[in-house]
Amino acid sequence: MTPAQRSSPKIELHVHLEGAVRPGLLAEIARGNGVAPPVPPDGSYAFADLYDFIAIWNALTDCLRTPEDYRRSLLAYAAEAAGHGAVYLEPVLDAEERLGGPSGWADVLAACADAAAEARDRFGVAIGLTPQVFRGQDVAFAEEAARVATRFAGRGAVGFGLAGAEGRFPTVPYARAVRIAADGGLPFVPHAGEAAGPAAVREVLAMGAVRVRHGVRAVDDPDLVAELADRGTVLDVTPTSNLRLGVAAPDRPHPVTRLAAAGVRCSVSTDDPAIFDITLAGEYAVAARLGVEPAAAYGAGLAGALCDASTRRWLADVGARAYGEVFAESILDK
Ligand SMILES: [Zn+2]
Repeated sequence: MTPAQRSSPKIELHVHLEGAVRPGLLAEIARGNGVAPPVPPDGSYAFADLYDFIAIWNALTDCLRTPEDYRRSLLAYAAEAAGHGAVYLEPVLDAEERLGGPSGWADVLAACADAAAEARDRFGVAIGLTPQVFRGQDVAFAEEAARVATRFAGRGAVGFGLAGAEGRFPTVPYARAVRIAADGGLPFVPHAGEAAGPAAVREVLAMGAVRVRHGVRAVDDPDLVAELADRGTVLDVTPTSNLRLGVAAPDRPHPVTRLAAAGVRCSVSTDDPAIFDITLAGEYAVAARLGVEPAAAYGAGLAGALCDASTRRWLADVGARAYGEVFAESILDK
């Protein structure tokens, strides 16, 4: 990778804060909490599928216990991503019982909102938080979490997500939580179309998704692909994560190649950079080889970003300076 590739501006809309804590910092935080972080047997993690990954992810994230842990983690990732050209991030934050229920989670969100403001000043990277609940979570808890999240709308939070073991737990029971968040100013930015197929993508679109994290399995349904392209729906694609979790087969073209060729806007992200041992600049390079050039990834990121108008204007200027005409086209499309 050239220095120019590394430093060219990037937008990342799909990164789990809990999966972005590098092993050194995670071990330090875990020690402070009296927890032993799981150590991969051969130096890096391997996963049979999404469900296997979620089990490891849960063990890793269990090391984070306090608002200060999250604050440090967000600042560390913001600094790292800025070093890879990031100018805008939408980190995902899970509502977890272990954080002390919804009120403890509110303290975590407050700490992250503070860290986000600090990161913009110190590293020049704007951050919009997207708190989320997950499939399989207690529905009443998820609804309370949505209410808590809305307290941060316009104060650090910009959207509300849903993730978890897609295909194993249904999405529909969380419709009310999604509505609570949307009514409170947090548009719906769910995970879908990763472990489950096109029907899962249609399902979240019907629930009001303004963007889809993953969504790559839409590729199996040409009508849906055409609809996504027509609507300009942004998919937050994570190329290496898809390969590592078996969503994309190594011996077949990556879905993102066909989606991009069909005119679907694909933003590019790492998903869980510390767990997959990857970087944002590295994923932009992988995406470029798969048919999503950095300018297109940036344009899709800007189209999908839930930032305020002044941040959007700034991001548009940054993109136009770096990517010129190609970028201007993708902006005019919006
Ligand atoms: Zn994800």
